[in-house]
Amino acid sequence: MVNFSLEPHQEKIREKYRDFTAKYIIPNSRKYDQLAEFPWEVVKKAYDEGIMNGLMSKEYGGNGFNLFEGAVASEELGYGCIGTGISIDANTLALTPLYIAASEAQKKRWFGQIVEQKAVAGYCLTEPNAGSDVQGIKTTAIRKGDKYIINGHKRFITNAEVSTILTVFALVDPTRGSRSLSAIIVPTNTPGVEIKPRLQKMGQKASVQNEIIFTDVEVPVENLIGDEGYGFIIAMKTFDRTRTGVAALAVGAARRAFETSRDWSKKRIQFGKPIAAQQAVAFMLAEMATKVETARLMTWKAAWEYDTNAKNLGLSSAMAKYWATDMAMEVATDAVQVMAGDGYSYDYEVEKIMRDVKLTQIYEGTNQVQRLVISKNILK
Ligand SMILES: Cc1cc2nc3c(=O)[nH]c(=O)nc-3n(C[C@H](O)[C@H](O)[C@H](O)COP(=O)(O)OP(=O)(O)OC[C@H]3O[C@@H](n4cnc5c(N)ncnc54)[C@H](O)[C@@H]3O)c2cc1C
Repeated sequence: MVNFSLEPHQEKIREKYRDFTAKYIIPNSRKYDQLAEFPWEVVKKAYDEGIMNGLMSKEYGGNGFNLFEGAVASEELGYGCIGTGISIDANTLALTPLYIAASEAQKKRWFGQIVEQKAVAGYCLTEPNAGSDVQGIKTTAIRKGDKYIINGHKRFITNAEVSTILTVFALVDPTRGSRSLSAIIVPTNTPGVEIKPRLQKMGQKASVQNEIIFTDVEVPVENLIGDEGYGFIIAMKTFDRTRTGVAALAVGAARRAFETSRDWSKKRIQFGKPIAAQQAVAFMLAEMATKVETARLMTWKAAWEYDTNAKNLGLSSAMAKYWATDMAMEVATDAVQVMAGDGYSYDYEVEKIMRDVKLTQIYEGTNQVQRLVISKNILK
């Protein structure tokens, strides 16, 4: 039988993440929105409280969540602040290539190092001429003896300036183009890794991005993840796993925007009665509540399919990502509209949520790219 209620251990995960969000993320979210800095104090606290590395196996020091439990946790982080949530969750993006294709020895080494150092990692796929089109990647990793020599330029890399390791996608044989794409671990302090100044951006300011230039960066061949030429598959399989997390963060942010505007509308008196008593406003709130529910169900279903080894994982995660993030943008925009001048002001969180959720429609594949994935799946 289908059951939509959480099991006791899943409830506990939700409570733990909800509590962490209330204690450490919400009180700091405005501060980091203004500072536009990596929220180290919150991330360190997340390590101390067992919030980091949710999807990493317990044997390596993570929480050992399946994707469904991860989605429950990420919704709570997104409720507090998507930028901070991404700073906590981005390790999953950077380390999923290892989860998918690394040897046990590699997992032990790199996961172990991340946990021991209470560190964060970066995922380096995007380049100036390779955004939606991953096949446009030009960065090379040419083998010389027992080393790869990496040269190239990555862009928009989350966590770059604070990472200890980077998962870099590069061509081991440029004559074979993306068929030679490979995933390689590069410690950020390797000579030749140059991290450019931080990107200035509209929202999610508690998450940082940089360009990275690689000039004759030497790494040992044992840093290759999986086989040479397996990089494109690793990158796509990574997104099958991580897009559900983006959807969950967006559901959390939308829930917060809805609740904030709902509570406000019950208190704000105009024309002698609460704004919520105007049917036009009440119907907006009804639609917002329904949208949050439907997006959560899609997110949970995509996560459940991943956990139960269903086929077409790319299809359900793309559907959940595009649906939940488009929904969050609509709900956040409506929350600002319901609250009007107050919604637009810094006194409430909804203007920040509106800026923050915009990015969820863009990264880990734009929502046009998600529709591309979906249409290819349903038409094949
Ligand atoms: C804040 C932030 C954080 C990021 N973090 C990371 C990270 O950690 N690691 C990483 O590797 N990358 C990261 N990215 C990069 C992100 O994944 C890309 O920005 C995204 O994939 C889109 O690429 P682009 O910006 O180059 O847009 P483009 O690919 O140039 O797209 C421009 C427009 O064209 C549309 N479009 C493109 N191709 C098609 C098509 N075939 N059909 C229909 N429409 C199309 C797009 O939807 C978009 O509207 C991040 C980006 C940002 C802004």
